[in-house]
Amino acid sequence: MNTSWSRVCACFGALAANHSFCIAQTNAPDHPSITVEGRTYTPRSILARNMGSLEEQSTQFPPHKIIGNVYYVGTKTLSSFLIVTPGGNVLIDSTYERNVPIIRKSVELLGLKFSDIKILLGNHAHGDHMEGDAMMKELTGAQVIVMSEDVPALKEMQPGGKKHPIDRVIQDGDTVELGGTVLVAHLTAGHTRGATTWTLKATEGGQTHDVVFFSSLRSPAQLTPPVIEEFSRSFEVVSQLPCDVPLGDHPAQFGMLEKYAKSKSSALNPYIDVAGCGLGAKIEEAMFHAILQEQEKAAR
Ligand SMILES: [Zn+2]
Repeated sequence: MNTSWSRVCACFGALAANHSFCIAQTNAPDHPSITVEGRTYTPRSILARNMGSLEEQSTQFPPHKIIGNVYYVGTKTLSSFLIVTPGGNVLIDSTYERNVPIIRKSVELLGLKFSDIKILLGNHAHGDHMEGDAMMKELTGAQVIVMSEDVPALKEMQPGGKKHPIDRVIQDGDTVELGGTVLVAHLTAGHTRGATTWTLKATEGGQTHDVVFFSSLRSPAQLTPPVIEEFSRSFEVVSQLPCDVPLGDHPAQFGMLEKYAKSKSSALNPYIDVAGCGLGAKIEEAMFHAILQEQEKAAR
């Protein structure tokens, strides 16, 4: 696979490795446009907001505590979360393979050992979130746990010819436990077949908070009947999840830059944002319906 195209085409869909598909997508007309809470979005503006520049995708963001035992160890535009437990640590998202050394540095800057990562999870089977899994496994020996519906796409993800490691396959509702922390896997398909929203309970200041690591809910340009069904179910699932702390696979989806800046001066933890819990899904659901409407109109 041509690396530069794989970068440009990240997250365009299950066929992200197919260059002609990517070119068709990048040249696609930039509509529909939607307005949510006073802001206007187009498919391209959402993608640009999420991905940032190539440089930002591989620029370390200061590693820091989000809440309780949850830490941010990703780059400026690609999220990686570390969940620290007495039994070892869990990493959600290795991102691109080239970012693995950056994540390592972030973990070490927190005063933690990279080799204490015992479990590796993922948001969804696209390169910008899970391409580095093989290298991460090589360096840490972590157990790689994946959602069953994403297995076929992951098997095709082979950076430098390395096979994607899969140590345990889970189903919707399964849990992953380590050192007293329990993560629940919620299948929220659509963006990929096995896109997974992870939840856990974090304790801080004597209070327990529901943390939600939302999966991507971004629609492709063309919606097929099975994908329409998947998204419809997923929007319902995410609307029902108890949530105090919304997180996501790209920092822009949960306003990390603003919250991180605020955390320096605020006595309250700005990542506790019940009001912000539904915003990401609200934008993606509005875009999904607008795309669907355009598609149905064109078919008439
Ligand atoms: Zn994606």
